[in-house]
Amino acid sequence: MQALHILETVFGYTAFRDQQAQIVEHVANGGDALVLMPTGGGKSLCYQIPALLRGGVGVVISPLIALMQDQVDALAEVGVRAAFLNSTQTHEESARIEYRLRMGDLDLLYIAPERLMNARCLALLEASKIALFAIDEAHCVSQWGHDFRPEYIKLSVLHERFPSIPRIALTATADQQTRDEIALRLQLDDALKFVSSFDRPNIRYQIVEKTNGRKQLLDFIRNEHAGDAGIVYCLSRKKVEEIADFLNESGLTALPYHAGMSYSTRAEHQARFLREENIVMVATIAFGMGIDKPDVRFVAHLDLPKSIEGYYQETGRAGRDGAPASAWMAYGLQDVVQQRRMIDESEADETFKRILGVKLDAMLALCETITCRRVRLLAYFGQHSTACNNCDICLNPPTAYNGTITVQKLLSAIYRVDQRFGANHVIDVLRGIDSEKIKQWQHDRLSTFGIGAELSEAEWRAVLRQTIALGLVMVDHDAYHALKLTNKARPVLRGEEIVQLRQYQKPIKTKRIYNKPYADIGADLSPEEQILFDKLRWWRVETARKHNVPAYVIFHDATLREIAKEKPNSLHALRGVSGVGEKKLETYGEEMIALINSLIANQKLQDLIV
Ligand code: ADP
Ligand code: ZN
Repeated sequence: MQALHILETVFGYTAFRDQQAQIVEHVANGGDALVLMPTGGGKSLCYQIPALLRGGVGVVISPLIALMQDQVDALAEVGVRAAFLNSTQTHEESARIEYRLRMGDLDLLYIAPERLMNARCLALLEASKIALFAIDEAHCVSQWGHDFRPEYIKLSVLHERFPSIPRIALTATADQQTRDEIALRLQLDDALKFVSSFDRPNIRYQIVEKTNGRKQLLDFIRNEHAGDAGIVYCLSRKKVEEIADFLNESGLTALPYHAGMSYSTRAEHQARFLREENIVMVATIAFGMGIDKPDVRFVAHLDLPKSIEGYYQETGRAGRDGAPASAWMAYGLQDVVQQRRMIDESEADETFKRILGVKLDAMLALCETITCRRVRLLAYFGQHSTACNNCDICLNPPTAYNGTITVQKLLSAIYRVDQRFGANHVIDVLRGIDSEKIKQWQHDRLSTFGIGAELSEAEWRAVLRQTIALGLVMVDHDAYHALKLTNKARPVLRGEEIVQLRQYQKPIKTKRIYNKPYADIGADLSPEEQILFDKLRWWRVETARKHNVPAYVIFHDATLREIAKEKPNSLHALRGVSGVGEKKLETYGEEMIALINSLIANQKLQDLIV
């Protein structure tokens, strides 16, 4: 098959994954497609190969301007003629690209949506031979979604002006509602839909109770991901700066990234993250959409994301190469309060607020769950699965208990102080603490004073967090954060409803989970091979610097691992390694073989000396 030949010779891979083959065939034959595949699933090949097969230029519409240069560089490395048009270019640069387009000198052209919509650009495309349109990050068309881009709505114009050109829309985030919206707004009702499994089995999900967030984060990185590249997400710019400082003071290499920083600093930090091996990027969600770095080993959240879509997309940036990776989050009472408050105080209309509320509830339910996290995540995307054995719940199951009486105590305590006091005071009342404030208000005379002495303060906070997450209690931000009962509290107080709670778990010391072999990429290394692998990585760092591209554009870790294992000593042998296509063989082949031979000779020499 022609497509397989391109996969092997250009991209250096031996087999298509999952549905890639069907998608490629369908689009190459001129069909429209809607592709839902998780991050790291391999969406790019689904339009790149059909574009090469069909002749003419494949036009890729993407909002990720910052990424286009790397994408084009990576394609150039495998010998595909690619370019981009966006607002970062000078007039001369775009004129040159437009000339190449007219001359039929491009296989792939990346365009920002606002640029595409420009009348001149559309006319230019009409005058060119187009292989296909690929609409990347297609969920940006959804108004309820987290990445809405108004220009995306206008992309329906493609169907009207280029009715005979196949279109393929791709996204990694799509609940049913978003799916329908994509099909509707892009006029893809008749497109064939390809829905892949959303599971990312190599990612281990962990959500811990937040006690001291930054210390927990540091412990997590030190214990499980020392020396690894990772992303830490925080909600505010200020916190991003603080956490980056803290990690640097603790001996890690961390860089901040948020929208308040200058464009050049952001670009510099992003470039370092991509090009160096062990950088921890501390960022707001402004960072990372479409980040292609395949060897991000962990994604950590220090603040609660607003929705499961957002959480899944952010955590999906870990482990694109298929090797073990972690998604870790610390979550506490304050997060619930803060997120609820952000919704209440937002300017949005009531309908929108309600949708935000529903999305937050699903996120909270994921945090408080006592069953497998992956099962819940996948269920959210409409996919059925069974317990995964690779999340914190499966590995260390918490116990649930009937917490009705405990919750009733809490609810009555809130009620008895007239719903006018905040969490600290209510917990003091429950535990029977003789604080100044208790004396001042004579709350030691209440029937609820001391009825909850059996639980510690941390335990009460965990209970309160869950009751807020369940919507039994709310925090009134207009009244000094006073706790108030909601309508849902009534049946619980009357004993008509049972509340299941999660047993409070003292934070446990975590172990490095990650030094298990890379079974799934077929390369667990012996000590000698590990040394070879490290040397190959050094070579890659140097080479990447010389070519001014990210290291993974040269070769992926998986490819270097296989080389370290197989030690190919001829171009022919090197060709057989996954990730080595014809162009890379031509560019790096000789150098690579010479390097391997000299490294092996060196090792042998050392063995003789020892
Ligand atoms: P997505 O856009 O879906 O997040 P990418 O297209 O960036 O994913 O692919 C993720 C990684 O998987 C890339 O490094 C890519 O080279 C690799 N990949 C994709 N398809 C294959 C395949 N058939 N065989 C081996 N590696 C693949
Ligand atoms: Zn699980």
